[in-house]
Amino acid sequence: MEDIEHIPKELKLIDENGVRLDGRRFDELRPIRIEAGVLGRADGSAYVEWGGNKVLAAVYGPREAHPRHLQDPARALVQCRYNMAPFSVSDRKRPGPDRRSVEISKVISEAFSSVIFKEQFPRTSVDIFIEVLQADAGTRCAGLTAAAVAIADAGVPMKDLVTSCASGKIGGVVCLDLNKDEDNFGEADCPMAIVPRTGEIVLLQMDGHLTYDEFQKAMGLSIDAAKRIYDLQRDALRRRYSATVDEILREAAAAPAPSPAPAEVAFDSQLDDLGREGSP
Ligand code: ADP
Repeated sequence: MEDIEHIPKELKLIDENGVRLDGRRFDELRPIRIEAGVLGRADGSAYVEWGGNKVLAAVYGPREAHPRHLQDPARALVQCRYNMAPFSVSDRKRPGPDRRSVEISKVISEAFSSVIFKEQFPRTSVDIFIEVLQADAGTRCAGLTAAAVAIADAGVPMKDLVTSCASGKIGGVVCLDLNKDEDNFGEADCPMAIVPRTGEIVLLQMDGHLTYDEFQKAMGLSIDAAKRIYDLQRDALRRRYSATVDEILREAAAAPAPSPAPAEVAFDSQLDDLGREGSP
């Protein structure tokens, strides 16, 4: 699986100066770019580039849940489909769902289930689609981060955005945001997702082993990084909606000056008449 043959067996993922293969320090994130509202047909959408990951999220709803027997008379359903495109990895990935994508879809829908105000929308569903166009480890975190922005873009009421990041262990050192080589050859990877406003943890998984102290350190790194990612998410939403406000202002400036309202015209002509009558 994948092009891992190019990596020598004795490869050091982090050197004695604490520098990783891609030049990052232990507490550095890969570059992240977030755009909100990138799709015309979905109610909300977002695109995230996170290191080598490229992920698109689209959200529909709340809309009538189908099939109808799934409807909950007390609340909305939150459904997620995480999918990796066949061309997202260097070996062609077999299209369609597999155990991994079913698991990721489930944990992501559960994460959003705890922030969306589901009781306000009985019998409906909020449908989240995450498409991984290019994968380089950490796609569930990138997908969650994109989906949170897409849900906000769709105007679905929720407690707060959800922000996600992973930390793990490579060469015995706890590091933030592992890339593909680090994920393949490292000792552990621990993705988490947090609701920044409340501090609630809505996703926590672990692949590999960490001691209690290492786990604490990994969580500390992820929580710090989540604050930075949260700012990027909010920036993306601000850019999307401030652009709309700019457009409104530009349109208003370009529009011809409004003609006076009929009532004003009538009042002005009455004054004219009075003026004429009253004049000597
Ligand atoms: P995450 O992407 O959330 O880190 P995993 O740890 O399961 O999830 O996967 C790590 C990486 O392994 C993925 O980002 C992707 O680059 C690669 N990968 C996952 N599934 C496949 C697959 N079926 N074929 C090739 N590469 C895969």
